[in-house]
Amino acid sequence: MNLHEYQAKNLLKKYGTRIQEGVMIESTSDAIIAAKKLSDETGTSWYVVKAQVHAGGRGKAGGVKLAKGIDKVEDIVDEILGMTIVNRQTGPAGKLVRKVLIAQDVYYPGEHEIREFYVSLLLDRAKGQLCFIYSTEGGMDIEEVAESTPEKVCKEWIDPNVGLQGFQVRKMAFNLGLSGLAFKNMCKFLSSVYKAYVSSDASLVEINPCLIASDEAVIAVDGKISLDGNGLFRQKDLAEMRDILEEDPTEVEAGEVGLSYVKLDGNVGCMVNGAGLAMATMDMIKIAGQEPANFLDVGGTADAKRVETAFRIILKDSNVKAILVNIFGGIVRCDRVAQGIVDAYKSIGNIPVPIIVRLQGTNAAEAKDIIDQSGLKVYPVIQLKDAALKVEEVLA
Ligand code: GDP
Ligand code: MN
Repeated sequence: MNLHEYQAKNLLKKYGTRIQEGVMIESTSDAIIAAKKLSDETGTSWYVVKAQVHAGGRGKAGGVKLAKGIDKVEDIVDEILGMTIVNRQTGPAGKLVRKVLIAQDVYYPGEHEIREFYVSLLLDRAKGQLCFIYSTEGGMDIEEVAESTPEKVCKEWIDPNVGLQGFQVRKMAFNLGLSGLAFKNMCKFLSSVYKAYVSSDASLVEINPCLIASDEAVIAVDGKISLDGNGLFRQKDLAEMRDILEEDPTEVEAGEVGLSYVKLDGNVGCMVNGAGLAMATMDMIKIAGQEPANFLDVGGTADAKRVETAFRIILKDSNVKAILVNIFGGIVRCDRVAQGIVDAYKSIGNIPVPIIVRLQGTNAAEAKDIIDQSGLKVYPVIQLKDAALKVEEVLA
């Protein structure tokens, strides 16, 4: 589950991270009150208006703008609220801006040079350890930095059994070229980011830019946090921060009926039971030269109702040109699933794309009979390889 920037920053602040303070609003009429409140709290007279959507790269897309005075705030909020941000991260449909953060300007001039660093903390699955990724080249696209100047991206792994150690924090601050007050502030900053990550069952915390302000304060100017969905049952407060409007509506609908569905970009819809079989099926589709349109695990109880819901969800994707059903009858009986498919087909009416059905396991033969006798445009197959070949054939 992803958080908005304003939520991520509030969470970081709770664990002691210094943040660029802000007030989130959903209506232009609240802009002036929010800006005044912010000035009372922080003393700022300049503001940054920031679109709150679940995507980065907002700055370049026109979703982050500086207001040099309270008289400029309302117009800028009006401009950003309701705009659609379109970039690589949002996909071609873009993301509608429903909320904005009015934040204090923290790029104020002063004694020291202002610098933008990059700091993130994530799980390195291969090593089974947490990993800080950090760089002096913040503010911009970190993927680009990693590509063109990989030596400027540093990593520090943390053994989960001992946790983050003081020497590691100092090493990172040192590698970032800091000394004096900035060094001390960075050490505090990194420790608090680690605390926030572990305490909230996060899977990613990314701060870009992490600002070294002109008074050597270390400040989270941006904040992205992804929470581990498996930890949400014990993170009730965080679970409430979910913003369903930012999620793919079809994925939300699937989740409500207990189907694991992830939309992809291909044209072959998949309906499979079991995550492992679903992965294998997607591999077979790729081997056949096609691309899966989705991942869909219907789970253990592939009855007619669930099969029908799954069909409806797959068919919402207009890219789908064929559907491959691949069910292994272990606990569930294949003939029941076959009947479910036939019922679903009749209930939905005219399904405009060919359906290839592979049912293996308990009562597979009976299942094939049911499909054969249904008179529907459904192609039964037994072997997984044949299923892939059939997909290739119907799409040719
Ligand atoms: P992103 O583009 O979605 O990653 O959004 P960010 O929160 O990282 O903001 C984008 C850019 O806006 C930053 O890299 C800064 O250059 C600029 N920015 C953010 N906050 C301030 C601020 O307080 N003052 C000024 N002058 N610029 C800011
Ligand atoms: Mn950013």
